[in-house]
Amino acid sequence: RYYSSEPSLQETEENGFKGHSMLAPFTAGWQSTDLHPLVIERSEGSYVYDINGKKYIDALAGLWCTALGGNEPRLVKAATDQLNKLPFYHSFWNRTTKPSLDLANEILSMFTARQMGKVFFTNSGSEANDSQVKLVWYYNNALGRPNKKKFIARSKSYHGSTLIAASLSGLPALHQKFDLPAPFVLHTDCPHYWRFHLPDETEEEFSTRLANNLENLILKEGPDTIAAFIAEPVMGAGGVILPPKTYFEKIQAVLKKYDILLIADEVITAFGRLGTMFGCDMYNIKPDLVSIAKALSSAYMPIGAILVSPEITDVIYSQSNKLGSFAHGFTYSGHPVSCAVALETLKIYNERNIIEHVNKIAPRFQEGIKAFSGSPIVGEIRGQGLILGTEFVNNKSPNDLFPSDWELKEAVPRDVRCKSTLFSLWLVISGVGSIFGAECEKRGMLIRVAGDSIMLSPPLIMTPEEVEEIIRKFGHALKATE
Ligand code: PLP
Repeated sequence: RYYSSEPSLQETEENGFKGHSMLAPFTAGWQSTDLHPLVIERSEGSYVYDINGKKYIDALAGLWCTALGGNEPRLVKAATDQLNKLPFYHSFWNRTTKPSLDLANEILSMFTARQMGKVFFTNSGSEANDSQVKLVWYYNNALGRPNKKKFIARSKSYHGSTLIAASLSGLPALHQKFDLPAPFVLHTDCPHYWRFHLPDETEEEFSTRLANNLENLILKEGPDTIAAFIAEPVMGAGGVILPPKTYFEKIQAVLKKYDILLIADEVITAFGRLGTMFGCDMYNIKPDLVSIAKALSSAYMPIGAILVSPEITDVIYSQSNKLGSFAHGFTYSGHPVSCAVALETLKIYNERNIIEHVNKIAPRFQEGIKAFSGSPIVGEIRGQGLILGTEFVNNKSPNDLFPSDWELKEAVPRDVRCKSTLFSLWLVISGVGSIFGAECEKRGMLIRVAGDSIMLSPPLIMTPEEVEEIIRKFGHALKATE
């Protein structure tokens, strides 16, 4: 099936369309050369507009991050005030800035799942997870445990795309041809009950089996070699996968037994996405380390952070006292403009009772979309709060997949893929998830497509009317895809 879209970039008859100059992230070469990118120009509340003026409801909040939507004037003011006052100073060698000190305090006071000790600032979620590994290694070296260095992550997880974060991620595309994962990273089961449970296995039994598998992996490798386990409270990019009942309780018991640290990757789930301030609150997770980013600044400025337990902080302090410094950090760790914007973001979440608002609109959002579960191409619709995933399969069966994007695309000759008509540029969209994504886009709604999983994660500030718009557009796009 071919889909048309209005060209977003100007092309003349002489130059034709030759693609753009970016080596674009998470984009295939043929997309950059054969297709016009969708060029987004401005945003307003829960909406974004492309350069042709077309309006889209941003049902993914950028990339799971613009929690406060577009054009929040207080964030713009926080950035400009800070830019005028002090656009930059670093936080190395015991120099720092007021916004970074204040933000660290504020983050610690908001995280109540357990007491945390300190905050380390990064510029992104990937850098946060990368830094987690270095921090844990430093910690274990300081404790005289040089062999306790391996990490266990889960299949289908996403932890970022730097060398280490991509290694931790459990998505094959991040490893293929990159010589990853690094040898110190092991992967255990994806906790997706619907797809992976055995016949007649309950959710609790499924969780027990996964916890046993984790324990067996630890025993096989040797508990003295395993440093930490990393998990997203709800898996995001892997398809919005919720933990099955009793999962985290059982996993945490295994980790405790073998003195293995738990890292909660809350890059998507922190600050209200699930209807609690942190995902750890929702699932009673007591982590040793936490990664945050995205909604920390509502994505108005790049920033990430790690929350470090008091026990780990103490060890890092005593070790660095011996060595002279904790030699890890980035020029922009605790960037004052990012921190000022993040501080204002957190203030807005508190003042506007963002958690209460999410819990007010989320039930209708979840119920409205889940009402489409009966569609013949839908396998499962799952979600929590303002995050939701849908999986398309044949015959309602987790084991009966549609043909992949790539196979179908390759069947179409390039000149057809590129064909430019008077009215439109023809796009080839193949795979049911992509077809659904294109149907949404035609109707003015942006979502995330990954194979035949599609995901929604709209701005937290959505109004009830905007929730209805998403449900309506979802339904129409689904009908057209069927
Ligand atoms: N961890 C999780 C759970 C994520 O969803 C992401 C990004 O989507 C990352 C880490 C990486 O964050 P960044 O893209 O800011 O490096």
